[in-house]
Amino acid sequence: MRLTSTFAALLGATLCCAGVSLAGPVASRDEPVAFHINCTTRSERPVFSIALDDGIRSTEYHESVISTFERRGHVPMFFVNGDFFGCILPYRDEIRSTLEQGRALYGSHGWAHPHALEIPLEEWERDVELLELAYVAMGLGRPRVYRFPFGEHNDEHLVRLRQRGYVAAVQWNQDSRDWAGLSKADVEAKLLDDFAAPDQPRNLLWLNHEVQDLDAKEGLLDWEFDQMAQQGKDYVDIRQCIGVHGPLFAKPTRKQRELAKQLDTNDCKAFAAAYDQLPGPRGRKSL
Ligand SMILES: [Zn+2]
Repeated sequence: MRLTSTFAALLGATLCCAGVSLAGPVASRDEPVAFHINCTTRSERPVFSIALDDGIRSTEYHESVISTFERRGHVPMFFVNGDFFGCILPYRDEIRSTLEQGRALYGSHGWAHPHALEIPLEEWERDVELLELAYVAMGLGRPRVYRFPFGEHNDEHLVRLRQRGYVAAVQWNQDSRDWAGLSKADVEAKLLDDFAAPDQPRNLLWLNHEVQDLDAKEGLLDWEFDQMAQQGKDYVDIRQCIGVHGPLFAKPTRKQRELAKQLDTNDCKAFAAAYDQLPGPRGRKSL
């Protein structure tokens, strides 16, 4: 019953599951999911949005990033992993409370950050399904937006995401380079080169990482916000950026709820091991 009651609470807070829609006609399940490399917002002024990957590393890093956005009146998008820098399961209360308070948005970056093009399709889909079931087990519903680790994908991955109920895959057109091991000064110099390029896009959809010191501790995000302000770009959250209306979590199916109940643990290794013992085809046990 815990799942049901938590889910109802989230519904009451209008955070979850009322339905997600894209502008335009509904695509069939065999078409690729919408793939976004930039904000499609139509507005007089250019816009930008920032989505941060690979968390949650720790409460300290996560809160630091959220606070940086909050001071600007903005809401970050986190594409979290299930078991990468850290295990997501112990953060269930933290994520639920940031959602309820409207301080952050969440999507899927898969379970363990695989190279999608280097593993069989079923292994990649297992990775996607594990985080879906983790979110359901955490009482948050199933995610509707996905970001590919390393950006790696092909058309078949996009079709599978559509079949799984996703409404968007989110790439980027501005890499912050926060992952590259460079100093903040070197990152800023390279970004200034990007900004000076004649083909710099009008709108920018950023790739950042909440797990990096540059973002969580050294002020790169503030520098990016200042640069965007100088360029006259307004911040929009990821929903506005890509035109997804409504909550970013959908109501789980009864099968997903039943499977998630059998995986109720805060230990990611035990969670994945228990998943592998469930009946059904690997990667499609919940469909
Ligand atoms: Zn990543």
